[in-house]
Amino acid sequence: MSPKLSGGAASADTLAALLSSPEIKRLIAELEETRWTGRPGFPIRTMVGLALAKSLYALPTWTRTVALVADHWRLQRALGCEGNPPSQWSAYRFAAKLRENAPAVERCIDGVVEGLKAKLPLYGRDLAIDASDMPAYANGQRYVWKGGPERNWHTDPDATWGHRSAIATRKGGGFFGYRLHAAVCANTDLPIAWTVETGKANESMFVASLLDAAKRRGAMAVTCAMDKAYDLPRVYGECAERDCEAIVPLRATGAVVKNEHRPPGCQHGVWVFAGADRKRSATKWRCPTGECKPASTWVKADRLRPLMPRESKRWKAAYRKRGAVEREFGRLKNQWGLKPLRVRGLERVRLHADLTILTKLACALARVRAAATPPLSASRGTPRAAASPAAIRSRSAVRRN
Ligand SMILES: [Zn+2]
Repeated sequence: MSPKLSGGAASADTLAALLSSPEIKRLIAELEETRWTGRPGFPIRTMVGLALAKSLYALPTWTRTVALVADHWRLQRALGCEGNPPSQWSAYRFAAKLRENAPAVERCIDGVVEGLKAKLPLYGRDLAIDASDMPAYANGQRYVWKGGPERNWHTDPDATWGHRSAIATRKGGGFFGYRLHAAVCANTDLPIAWTVETGKANESMFVASLLDAAKRRGAMAVTCAMDKAYDLPRVYGECAERDCEAIVPLRATGAVVKNEHRPPGCQHGVWVFAGADRKRSATKWRCPTGECKPASTWVKADRLRPLMPRESKRWKAAYRKRGAVEREFGRLKNQWGLKPLRVRGLERVRLHADLTILTKLACALARVRAAATPPLSASRGTPRAAASPAAIRSRSAVRRN
């Protein structure tokens, strides 16, 4: 059993720290204002803590979360329910309350992202967008057997069949369920905006809304790296409208086969890139020897010839950062309990994803805040560097030594 799953002191402390952060306190206060009437329940703080513990311990169900808390007095103390742990029924009722109050959860996520943005100036400057499949807690078969009766339980009415592309370790193919569409910061590996949609929804339809959500949370993305599935003129346009450079490799469409994406040329050779003008949305190209008249020309930026040429080192470096979104999907699924789904219906799956990512971001925020607080022994006069990831890394390295 990993130390994370043992319900040890360290994770109970993490939980207590999350519950005392201003962003989570605000969520608790907002939910307290809408206190349900009638049935006497557990304090909202206890139930919010239970929801955070579920992701913190990567548990797929409320039943297992409730059982873990029942077994560990440290967790009960952190949640303020010593000797009286919540039941799974109270957990289900609380999950329903969270779904009804989705805007409060959203505001809490906004607050955590804004908090991170204040500490990590690079957070959200370069994004990587992708979609990842979340197989449903149902198998997608409409009939109990071929020609048999229709299934009426263990089905998920919102899940649909989608296609997932092949990756290094897995073949492509169909899956039944949902997809998480996410914009992840390529500099910090932290998500900044996301949405859960049904499996068949096309990934390219969510770029604009993800960029807008990131902007609302204070991140003006400069570049956005995406894979070939996003190589559509509309996606480039949506990014350009938001002053963001789409970093997408070309699919072999007709124009690409005809080499229309190549730099212009003349008898002196291939023309050289001589800069981009964002305002006129065009790139400048020059005759290699300068003998042509005119010796340079402007090319309107589009999918085939973007403002940042695909041959440039900058483009290649920006595209390499796309790995951030893949890595984050892996971590969310394997370390934070995003997978496997044990709920059905779009609203419940959305809440599951929101709580998982909120917990992860809240932990990241607690860490950067702790790292940015000068220890008592530190000399007062030294100005501290901004809390960039590199600065935090070097600082924690110092602390380890
Ligand atoms: Zn020439």
